[in-house]
Amino acid sequence: MEKRNKIYEGKAKILFETDNPDYLIQYFKDDATAFNAQKKGTIHDKGIMNNKISSKIFELLESEGIPTHFEKMLNEREMLVKRVKIIPLEVIIRNIAAGTLCRLLGLEEGTSLASPTMEFCYKEDKLNDPLINEYHIRALKIASDQEIETMKKFAFQINSLMTNFFKSLKIDLVDFKLEFGRYKDTVILADEISPDTCRLWEVGTGEKLDKDRFRRDMGNIEEAYQEVLSRITQPSG
Ligand code: 5GP
Repeated sequence: MEKRNKIYEGKAKILFETDNPDYLIQYFKDDATAFNAQKKGTIHDKGIMNNKISSKIFELLESEGIPTHFEKMLNEREMLVKRVKIIPLEVIIRNIAAGTLCRLLGLEEGTSLASPTMEFCYKEDKLNDPLINEYHIRALKIASDQEIETMKKFAFQINSLMTNFFKSLKIDLVDFKLEFGRYKDTVILADEISPDTCRLWEVGTGEKLDKDRFRRDMGNIEEAYQEVLSRITQPSG
């Protein structure tokens, strides 16, 4: 497939058109931002690692029946994806308290949750991606009832699949963010799944293997992402 015009550039990725109107090329950058882009930096080779990690996870989810925009990896930094219309929501699932949930409910980081939680945030940078609920989503016509149900169902299925997968790599899946898109009248998983969008803690040590190392200036960021990639690509090693 031939690469054409750039159609979108976000904080961590660029999307290019192709000669097929149903497909885009998703390019992963090394740029990293946090706190709604107030903090900026680069993580060396992050784009390469996140492309590989995301590809593996999308393949796993597809093999378990979750529809995603992923088609194939094209090269180190690019994957071919279906062209979707992104639903402007962040769907966040949590298994262990961290980040904004701790601030919202006064919980200590690491508190285990008796059952997974799910939140919707409205993807709107100028509002700081506010937490919203299903009534807001309907009132603002962000998504239909059926689309909301589909996103919830997939999100919890993805949580079970990813929790088990990471557990087998001796990593706890603390929480993660998903984005969905519309593709030919269906809702499919889009965006990426990587240490940029998940909290991943090493079992036993509690070592953070995700973007919190960047957010909190903890150092060894590249090493942490590389560790996740190595475990994913060599599960037995
Ligand atoms: P929190 O709401 O605690 O900040 O984040 C919960 C989870 O969702 C974390 O794994 C975090 O990485 C992910 N997440 C939430 N919002 C964003 C966002 O705007 N960008 C990215 N990359 N991840 C997010």
